[in-house]
Amino acid sequence: MKYDYLVVGSGLFGAVFAHEMKKRGKKCLVIDKREHIGGNIYCEDVDGIRVHKYGAHIFHTSNRQVWDYINQFAEFNHYVNSPIAKYRDELYNLPFNMNTFSKMWGISTPGEAQEIIAAQIADLGIREPQNLEEQALSLVGTDVYQKLIKGYTEKQWGRDCRELPAFIIKRLPLRFIYDNNYFNDRYQGIPVGGYTRIIEKMLEGIEVRLGVTYRAFVEKNGEVADRVIYTGMIDEYYDYKLGVLEYRSVRFETERLEMENYQGNAVVNYTEREVPYTRIIEHKHFEFGRQPFTIISREYSSEWRKGDEPYYPVNNDKNNELFEGYRNLAEKESRVIFGGRLGNYKYYDMDKVIEAALQLVSSL
Ligand code: UDP
Repeated sequence: MKYDYLVVGSGLFGAVFAHEMKKRGKKCLVIDKREHIGGNIYCEDVDGIRVHKYGAHIFHTSNRQVWDYINQFAEFNHYVNSPIAKYRDELYNLPFNMNTFSKMWGISTPGEAQEIIAAQIADLGIREPQNLEEQALSLVGTDVYQKLIKGYTEKQWGRDCRELPAFIIKRLPLRFIYDNNYFNDRYQGIPVGGYTRIIEKMLEGIEVRLGVTYRAFVEKNGEVADRVIYTGMIDEYYDYKLGVLEYRSVRFETERLEMENYQGNAVVNYTEREVPYTRIIEHKHFEFGRQPFTIISREYSSEWRKGDEPYYPVNNDKNNELFEGYRNLAEKESRVIFGGRLGNYKYYDMDKVIEAALQLVSSL
């Protein structure tokens, strides 16, 4: 075989894998169906503003090894994610913390906030939360749920909050201190120079072919590598033969505005159901940009259909069960290994992707 590994997909998982294997003397070929590298962390430079083309990415981790790892490829700025939630004409701080609660109820102490939440959920009788709604209610009570969670979540996932898994809402911190940092992680920031540059550096000296799907590549070239690392959708790989896994897709309406500052924050969530988009990203604020113009993206969430870009796996019981079926097929493969958010059908953050890729490398 001409290569040790054919890596399908040049996103973070594929790039880390190829980089590490090259270091170990292995020959990799990376292919990607898009015309650019980087998968969904790809950013486009528009007159000095880096536009997160496939949705905002903020790097955060508590894993020191992963932090040191990514810092080989970029320095990180001091950006701390602190989204604003807009419900009608009311503005709240996220994640749910004392700033949110004091604005919501006109109170000032953690004791008062906890008392209100406890009173709101006392009658609901939730013991072990079985779904996202019960989880959210039991954590923050009915007011915060109604104003800041229900509408947003149903827009983002296109499903009733009672049909969604509880773990989704547990991604967000809940604090009874005045702290608007969206993440609890020890390390956080945006890479100076951008995400695309990181992937470029990882792929230095590695052969990359763009604009080619796995299927078309194999039809034309046959098998060229001992093993395949496949980071696309696992159900698509198997031609959906066990059924179609559900994903959410996202569409962005991006606009350049001739003003310095549109919304005063990188991320503003629109939490009521009636506004059709979930959030507006103002890209320059990730890097403290001072350009005289700005670029914003309205984010619309939709159910994934064949041909759309898959973004979020819908990890409810039905889909997880179907995925288990595909995983059983995957385990029988001697040459193909699946990785990344789509290959593993997991709501991975970037640090978890790196962790998984490094783990795979060491297991091989
Ligand atoms: N969420 C919410 N209101 C918000 C922000 C988030 O209810 O204003 C919920 C929603 O269910 C969402 C989940 O929290 O799917 C996780 O949000 P996160 O910001 O982690 O989503 P991502 O950045 O991955 O799109």
